[in-house]
Amino acid sequence: MSTGSATGPLTFTPVEEIPNIRENLRSTFKTGKTRPLAWRRQQLRQLALMMQENRDALADSLWRDLHKPKEEVFIAEIGAVMARALESAEKLEEWAKPESLVGQVEDWQKDWNPRTHHQPKGTVLVIAPWNYPIILTLQPFMGAVAAGCCAVIKPSELAPTYAALLADLLPKYLDPSCFQVVNAEIEGTTKLLELQWDHIVYTGNGKIGRVVASAAAKHLTPVTLELGGKSPVIIDPASDLRLAAKRTLYGKYNNAGQICVAPDYVLIPTNKQDEFVGHLKEIYEEFFPDEGRSLSSESFGHIVNETHYKRVKALLDATNGDVVIGGRSQPPKGIELTVINNVQAGDSLMEEEIFGPLLPIVPVDDLEAAIQFVNDRDHPLILYLFTQNDKVKDYVLDNTTSGGLCINDTFQQLSVNMPFGGVGESGYGRQVLRYGFESCSNARAYVDVPKEAEQMLGVRYLPYNEQSRAVINGLVVGVKIPT
Ligand code: NAD
Repeated sequence: MSTGSATGPLTFTPVEEIPNIRENLRSTFKTGKTRPLAWRRQQLRQLALMMQENRDALADSLWRDLHKPKEEVFIAEIGAVMARALESAEKLEEWAKPESLVGQVEDWQKDWNPRTHHQPKGTVLVIAPWNYPIILTLQPFMGAVAAGCCAVIKPSELAPTYAALLADLLPKYLDPSCFQVVNAEIEGTTKLLELQWDHIVYTGNGKIGRVVASAAAKHLTPVTLELGGKSPVIIDPASDLRLAAKRTLYGKYNNAGQICVAPDYVLIPTNKQDEFVGHLKEIYEEFFPDEGRSLSSESFGHIVNETHYKRVKALLDATNGDVVIGGRSQPPKGIELTVINNVQAGDSLMEEEIFGPLLPIVPVDDLEAAIQFVNDRDHPLILYLFTQNDKVKDYVLDNTTSGGLCINDTFQQLSVNMPFGGVGESGYGRQVLRYGFESCSNARAYVDVPKEAEQMLGVRYLPYNEQSRAVINGLVVGVKIPT
């Protein structure tokens, strides 16, 4: 099967059908259909096949929704989902294997076969945003599939062409008795959140993150919150400034800066500022050699809608910094990749996550001042640091907090199989590959206590006597505490 272009308009799932959808998935889960590893593996491979066979339609849908260049979609969304679905299928056996705990228990407990079993939590709800619509729906989803759960995916209504396409494609490739797409605006999503789920993965802004976490708390449902915030770039003087400029600008132009891990602002010592900005100017012209630069480039995304356009434009209009690159805009959705120099802490550009193609440069006295600046604000999702000095790397690692730390590049942390997630205002919980599998699994602890253990356990039985009291007393009084 191959579809060359995206489907028709988005239709929302009738709100009254939503409880039935959840009920049907729960019934399927109870049958045990999703448990066999071979079945999960086959579903994950089907997910990869869905990506490959519909690559053009998928890329087309994101072009319509976000003006996102096909190359970006292939690298960061379709290619990444395919690779991770296939890797999940391959590694499933290893992830799902009971983990022996023999090495960490007392000697006299070793023959109790202590271990953990990964058991699917049940039925998972995935709520995704619009900015990377494919990977942000399907990456959490594949964690649920790998774990042996049933799942509902709720894509963002702000990327409607993709949301409609996903609803059309998913049942053609994966088992619809286990996996469903629910398309909804606030009313339908509120209905979803009234229901009980066994895990929720929400990706989006912190305000709605709080709505999701509060709704989940009513059912004691565990939640993964993938949020955003202002991710800083710290430039240490001991760095390759040209490369730092190139890699930072690269991090900002992807999807027109509408990515949770975009470099939000740059902290640089005052004495390196001019040199760094000079490199940025040269590199901007290299990236966008045509006369219209990023504003008219086919390789540069648009702002998702007019509301966000107005929000980003207002931040730019209100800045007291100096626009040194770009600065133009074109309603309803075009904003040029723009660098603003000499931005101060109280500037409009420092008030909220920019989530658009604006890069403020904030001068600071030195590294210590940069660290102080970061620590005075909410914990970011990712902190970028450019330095060739190992002592600086360790110093920043030890003296700041963020969901992740990427040294000497932007975005490459996303290509490495490691836990991804935030801390504090940037969210909680971890996902991607094994970590997504673990989020949707219950790590069930298991022991099998043999008859022979009676000899060690005898002291616990009533009635206590002198001998058992001596042993029990020794558990507290006899412990030597190192000073
Ligand atoms: P959005 O507006 O698409 O909202 C996200 C989801 O929440 C959508 O599915 C939407 O339908 C739903 N939603 C909206 N209002 C709701 C309500 N009242 N009740 C329940 N659900 C509701 O996307 P957004 O929030 O604008 O996304 C951008 C934000 O997401 C940024 O802050 C960005 O940093 C963050 N983000 C984080 C990650 C990550 O992995 N940590 C990835 C991408 C984006």
